[in-house]
Amino acid sequence: MKKQKPQTRKPALKGTKKSKTASRAGVRKASTISAKGAGTSPQRVRAILQKLDDAYPDAICALEHKNPFQLLISTILSAQCTDERVNQVTKTLYVKYPTPKDFAYANPLELEQDIRPTGFFRNKTKSIMGASKKIVEEFGGEAPSTMEQLLMLPGVARKTANVVLGTAFGIASGIVVDTHVMRLSERLDLSHNTDPKKIEQDLMQVIPRDKWILFSHQLIWHGRKVCQARKPRCAGCNLERLCYAKDKTVGSGLVSE
Ligand code: SF4
Repeated sequence: MKKQKPQTRKPALKGTKKSKTASRAGVRKASTISAKGAGTSPQRVRAILQKLDDAYPDAICALEHKNPFQLLISTILSAQCTDERVNQVTKTLYVKYPTPKDFAYANPLELEQDIRPTGFFRNKTKSIMGASKKIVEEFGGEAPSTMEQLLMLPGVARKTANVVLGTAFGIASGIVVDTHVMRLSERLDLSHNTDPKKIEQDLMQVIPRDKWILFSHQLIWHGRKVCQARKPRCAGCNLERLCYAKDKTVGSGLVSE
């Protein structure tokens, strides 16, 4: 069943000053609310993208890497873990295991201990070794550069593939949907789906393709720095006038397009 976003404001009485103000500000009508997100008019999306460009003009992936393969491994390690911690671990990990072959034929018990601080280390070891083996045995020792091939690697789903394609190869194959992008898509009324694949489809329909890579990074940075899960810093958010999230901590909740 499609999830519907509840109205955040009581409807103003017809003909009152309040209702005219609300109408001018573009408050959504109940009939326009859908799982796709009601705030997806091209004008509003352009305004959101402009604000993100203002705040994060050079947003990039925070995972340190020297090649596509390392980015792939770092992205697998980043599941349920901060990028900072992954970077700490990979600083020595990529010295000890410099090539896909080193990961593919590693001692699994030793690799588990090497990546233990990132959590879920047993599953991550299986994914890393499985993906590395396939890369060595079927892809000539190089991380593949198509969505189809990346999805053939153990432990790799669309999110990881989009990170690698967008950041390492500059290919806009989709939009990275991680926990930050999921939360912000909901708060910014761009998608009310809960399945990452559906959220990605919703975003791909409204965000211009040439913005897909940067937009993912910008939302992730905004989610980390400002629009945090438990207590969003709405007072310092440059998207505040465009945002009518029900858990906003300041502001009117009006839409300004
Ligand atoms: S106004 Fe608040 S809830 Fe809306 S995007 Fe900004 S930080 Fe997030």
